[in-house]
Amino acid sequence: MYPLLNDPSPITRTQEQIFDALYNTTLVILESTLQLDSEQKTRALYFSYNLCLCDDCQKECGAHINKKGQIRISQKFFQNSLQSPLPSGLLELMYSIFHQMLHGIFPEFEEKTIIEKTEQAWKSGMAELAKEKLGLSS
Ligand SMILES: [Zn+2]
Ligand SMILES: [Zn+2]
Repeated sequence: MYPLLNDPSPITRTQEQIFDALYNTTLVILESTLQLDSEQKTRALYFSYNLCLCDDCQKECGAHINKKGQIRISQKFFQNSLQSPLPSGLLELMYSIFHQMLHGIFPEFEEKTIIEKTEQAWKSGMAELAKEKLGLSS
C-alpha cells in the first residue's frame, strides 16, 4: 500500500521524488474511496502540485489550492514532515494534500463541509486499500 513508507531510506531520495510518491499515493487513496463518484475522482487528475513559498506558507505549515487547480504545499511543512517520525509526518502531509484535492473537487463547499468530507473519504479510501491488500495476500 505504501511503497514509499516501506522504504528504509527515504532520506536518500530527492525531495521531488518523495513529493511525487506522496502525491501519487494520495491519488490512489482518492481513487479507492467509495465516497466519491468517478466523475469527481476524474477532476482530481487535472490538478497539479508544487511546493510553495508564498507568505502564508512561510508563516504557517499549510497547503492551499488555487483556482487553476494547482495544489500548493508549504515547503516548510514538507520539510518538517520529512523530519518527523515516519510514517506520521508523511501521513499528515498526505492528508493535507487529500484535503486540498477535495477543495478542488468541490469548490462550492465551505471549509467545514470539506473537513467532514476529507475525513469520510480518507477513511473509506484507506479501508478499501486495506481490503485489497488482504485480498491479495490470501
Ligand atoms: Zn503558499
Ligand atoms: Zn480546507
